[in-house]
Amino acid sequence: MTENKNLITGATGDWEIVLGLEVHAQVRSAAKLFSGAATDYGGEPNTQVSFVDAAMPGMLPVINRKCVEQAIRTGLGLRAKINLFSVFDRKNYFYPDLPQGYQISQYQQPIVGEGALLIELEDGTEKSIGIERLHLEQDAGKSMHDQHPELSFVDLNRSGVALMEIVSKPDMRSVSEAQAYVKKLRAILRYLGTCDGNMEQGSLRADVNVSVRKPDADYGTRCEIKNVNSIRFIGQAIDYEARRQIAVLEDGGKVIQETRLFDPQKGETRAMRTKEEAHDYRYFPDPDLVPLTFTQAWVDEIAATLPELPDAKKARFIEAYGLTAYDANVLVAEAEIADFFEEVVTNGKTFRDAKAAANMVIGSVFAGLNRLGKPLAESPISATQIGQLLDLVSANIISGRIAKDVFDLMFEEGKYQGKDPMQIVEEKGLQQVTDMSVIEKAVDEVLAANPEKAAQAKEKPKLAGWFVGQVMQATAGKANPQAVNQLIREKLGLD
Ligand code: MN
Repeated sequence: MTENKNLITGATGDWEIVLGLEVHAQVRSAAKLFSGAATDYGGEPNTQVSFVDAAMPGMLPVINRKCVEQAIRTGLGLRAKINLFSVFDRKNYFYPDLPQGYQISQYQQPIVGEGALLIELEDGTEKSIGIERLHLEQDAGKSMHDQHPELSFVDLNRSGVALMEIVSKPDMRSVSEAQAYVKKLRAILRYLGTCDGNMEQGSLRADVNVSVRKPDADYGTRCEIKNVNSIRFIGQAIDYEARRQIAVLEDGGKVIQETRLFDPQKGETRAMRTKEEAHDYRYFPDPDLVPLTFTQAWVDEIAATLPELPDAKKARFIEAYGLTAYDANVLVAEAEIADFFEEVVTNGKTFRDAKAAANMVIGSVFAGLNRLGKPLAESPISATQIGQLLDLVSANIISGRIAKDVFDLMFEEGKYQGKDPMQIVEEKGLQQVTDMSVIEKAVDEVLAANPEKAAQAKEKPKLAGWFVGQVMQATAGKANPQAVNQLIREKLGLD
């Protein structure tokens, strides 16, 4: 039997976690799904509300073509079936932040059907996660309980904003698979430009369905954890909930199907309400809206405008630049990063050393930006400058180590920021020493100062490396390392 590290070991043996995600992604669109009101985040309460969003009597919803296009675009990006005929239904429930008394959603006939999404696992392999469906629906408003000691208020700015609910199949088996799924989905939505993926602002939030079972047994009863809004919280919520269910079952109890809330402060989930069945919502087709129909020609038109998506880009980076799957994965996570890398690596019609370029972007640029807490768009060093820096290394004007120093000078605030790297190298006298007489002098000095080590190195050739390090130090990293290595081996009689 192969060891499955995803299993959780309880008192009665191993348990498997089964996970399915329902992600609500806010559609990128200037106007709401059925009204012309604005969708900008952070507006003054109730300044972006039309009569439709406030559910004034007699108001009629009008479908926003842009939102439909965005849903189709997303469906195509998820390699899913696009339904040319779909229906809007009323999902009836009462909530103070839902003025209509129902949500316009799609139930039996959604705009997008089955698709698939590829995730990368920690061991470098890939796994396909099934997409069950994507449907369009309205967001609700927001109750505000902290404005007055006795009264609650409601902000309807979000009321009627278009959401895509993207439902996965129960194909995930661990925290890391669920997190990889959300990250990948977010990357695809951002590439497509159909959702900004901003989890802090609530543009992307996940309902996580968790159940546990003995390996190879039937699915257990699931609980749904509502509205988890960060990748880290998704992990904490799943881990807590799976262990809670295992404890219940091992105690001889039964898991009750219910909706739960995750408390980020305590790292726990707690019961919110027993789960409604679909019939509790009394779904029926919204009589104010005709079924949504469009042509395959329009779908094809949208398909023709799709950008290169992460999977295709990753394959191309591996193929064209010889990158490792790991590096390619990191670089394609965001379209901006991938573009930046390509700008660094491309030099007119030829390519620079892709591995060196990837190291520079992933290592130096990311690390530097993290330190500054800045996005790539505000990087103090441009892709062009990094390209110039790499050219100095490949022309043997500076070593890779000195390049790192020059990078730091250009990155940190100060007089070198924004300068041409060659100018910095000249000003600071950082050119690599290739004059053999200078290198030989340094080698001789180091050997003369360490006669015992030199004698040992003649017996143990590995010790030669120590001398290379000493000479590099003595020349402030400027000696050509190959030349130093060769000279030392010659002088120790190792070749
Ligand atoms: Mn929903």
